[in-house]
Amino acid sequence: MRSREIESSLPQSAALANFWDRLEFAPSSALLLDYDGTLAPFRLERDRAYPYPEVVPILEQIVDRSKTRVVIVSGRPAGEVRDLLSPLNKLEMWGAHGLERISAEGNYQQAAIPWNTLELLSQARECVMKANLTPIAEIKPGGIAIHWRGMSRDEVESLEKPLMEGWEGLARCPELKLLRFESGIELRVARPDKGDAVASIVNESGRAAEIAYLGDDLTDEDSFRALNGRGITVLVRPEYRETAAQVWLRPPGELIDFLLQWLNRIQ
Ligand SMILES: [Mg+2]
Repeated sequence: MRSREIESSLPQSAALANFWDRLEFAPSSALLLDYDGTLAPFRLERDRAYPYPEVVPILEQIVDRSKTRVVIVSGRPAGEVRDLLSPLNKLEMWGAHGLERISAEGNYQQAAIPWNTLELLSQARECVMKANLTPIAEIKPGGIAIHWRGMSRDEVESLEKPLMEGWEGLARCPELKLLRFESGIELRVARPDKGDAVASIVNESGRAAEIAYLGDDLTDEDSFRALNGRGITVLVRPEYRETAAQVWLRPPGELIDFLLQWLNRIQ
């Protein structure tokens, strides 16, 4: 049974109301979700950034209905997201901004990185070591992220300066790009990005499939742009910011309402 209360607690948006109506009659659907900041609150200890507790059982029920393909699209390595969402399984994970993929059945794939790009990434790693940032660096497939969470603006500026002496030149190479996210920076392969991951998922889904993407970060803007005109795009964030997304939800309350609404519509 559909809950009127859930509907009325969501922000007024004609796009979202239309989407719910279409989802109800769609033969299949895809629910694409960023992880950090969207399904899970930020934590200083990144390895303990578990999802909002209410989210897991709802996602489990959505997956069990077998009508929706649930896909996590994260900047983290795919295996890390899988571990943080454990014991929730049967989810598809796209990690490292779409470079890696773990299918719902558990099969792992990684896109090949050209040797000259790998060489540039190894130079980027040397810059991190020279700037003494190894303790806050995360080496991941196709990129290196530096995490500033918990630091003051002054601290960040003083640490970033020596790093950027090396990274600025590398970021100008077309093979790489510099991403600024909520609490850090990452130098990584220019493609694929999250938008490419979303475009691949859209291509794999039938024309009749209804698709939504939920994300919080600047890197999710590529996903919003890739999906706009084809599905619904949702910014999940406590404060509003300029975005290409069509709808804004505040976590965790409005996010949970959204997921419950999804579950109701695919009954
Ligand atoms: Mg995020």
